[in-house]
Formats: sequence, C-alpha cells, structure tokens
Amino acid sequence: MANLKVPREKIPWSPSIDTGRCIHDRECIDFCKNNVFDWDDALGVPVVARPYNCVVGCDACARICPSEAISFPPMDEFKATLRRLIAQAQQQAPAQPAEAAPH
Ligand code: SF4
Repeated sequence: MANLKVPREKIPWSPSIDTGRCIHDRECIDFCKNNVFDWDDALGVPVVARPYNCVVGCDACARICPSEAISFPPMDEFKATLRRLIAQAQQQAPAQPAEAAPH
C-alpha cells in the first residue's frame, strides 16, 4: 500500500473477536504471522493484543476462522474513514516547495 502519511494508530483497522462463537481451536493464533493475537489461557480464547500489527485491509484471519468469530469494520465505512484521514493528513502536511522554472 502507498505511503498514506497517516499514523497506523489512527487507522481503525483490526480484528474483533466474538468470543461466544469461538471454538477454541487456535487457528487464528497459528495463522497470523504479525502476532496480532495472544491466547488468553484463563478464558481459552484469543485476544487482540497488538491491533496495530494488523496489516491495513487484511482480513485473512476472519476468512480462516471456522466459526466466523472474527470480524473487521465494514469495508465501505472503513474506506470512507481512510479517505477522511488521508485528506486531513494532506492538509496538515507542510507545503511542497515549488519546482524551479526551467531555464
Ligand atoms: S480461529 Fe476463530 S474459532 Fe479458532 S480460536 Fe481463532 S477466533 Fe476462535
């Protein structure tokens, strides 16, 4: 993805877990190579321990979860939010110096 100039912590993209649907198979823990999840030993369910490790736009863990316990923000809503954040970042960016006119 292009350099969005938006800090990752401001981008609302990470999984949510419906622990009531979870069948405790640890598929998401084994699957996610970005270490987004930790396992809660007491409850026997995954927790989203490092949400900002999640790759923006990636929802692969939701697709591998056999019980559809993992969800992400609705894509249309997320895209609108991302456009707004990018516009804000562009407004806050220092103005680029004008290019020198050719001689
Ligand atoms: S893959 Fe789904 S069902 Fe399996 S542990 Fe993760 S959230 Fe629970």
